[in-house]
Amino acid sequence: MPATPAWPPSSLPRLFVDQRLAPDAALTLDGPAANYLGNVLRLTAGARLKLFDDRTGEWLAEIVEPGRKRVSLRILQQLRERESVPDLWLLFAPIKHGRIDWLIEKATELGIARLVPVVTKRTIVERINADRLRAHSIEAAEQCERTALPELAPLTKLDTVLRDWPAERCLLFADEAGGKPLSDTAAAGPAAILIGPEGGFTDEERTSIQAIAQAEPVSLGPRILRADTAALAAISIWMARAGDWGHHAIR
Ligand code: SAM
Repeated sequence: MPATPAWPPSSLPRLFVDQRLAPDAALTLDGPAANYLGNVLRLTAGARLKLFDDRTGEWLAEIVEPGRKRVSLRILQQLRERESVPDLWLLFAPIKHGRIDWLIEKATELGIARLVPVVTKRTIVERINADRLRAHSIEAAEQCERTALPELAPLTKLDTVLRDWPAERCLLFADEAGGKPLSDTAAAGPAAILIGPEGGFTDEERTSIQAIAQAEPVSLGPRILRADTAALAAISIWMARAGDWGHHAIR
């Protein structure tokens, strides 16, 4: 007896739309979304796709009027509620172009709730293109079947972030100079992981970070990892320990 095929088919195209979705809603997409549906996928009337809005969850939609510049759709049914991701923030010093895009993509796939780019003393990259990073995060969420997008905070000085540190949130400070193995620390939200720049933290910064009552220096092992590797290793360890990996993929 052939297995009942999954419904809707996991191969359906999946798009983020920045408007609130609802039952029987009609919507029109233009710009890159219309180009993707009309020119890349060449979808015709009646074709189905999955949409999510980062507000109400994921919905099954149908193309009513195809097009290359504008596509009209109607919502058929809700497929999933908006998920609640583990309450983990990633504080990271911006790194070079291609690698920061990669970091944002991977952190989104791994379920991060909030991305906080911080300027530290040895930060080389002093500006970020928030629109580009958000686009990378949306693309990653579309691909990995997230229904909740990570929040992308504005680039902020580390001192400012520490000054306003929320009392209820623990700060896991990845310190190449040593600390308790992250794999031995409690992994329960709200939490944040802090990753330094390629040049590392200054001793002065170490002192101000450790002056935060919620801060805990953690080690990611005996080797000096590049900043993006360190970020992904830390998120993965924390997510696994927090039980996030106990939830099976949606398919
Ligand atoms: N320049 C620094 C040095 O040579 O000591 C290395 C900085 S490392 C490339 C970038 C950041 O990744 C560090 O600031 C730290 O946050 C994190 N990191 C890398 N390896 C680590 C480790 N083994 N344990 C804890 N954090 C680590």
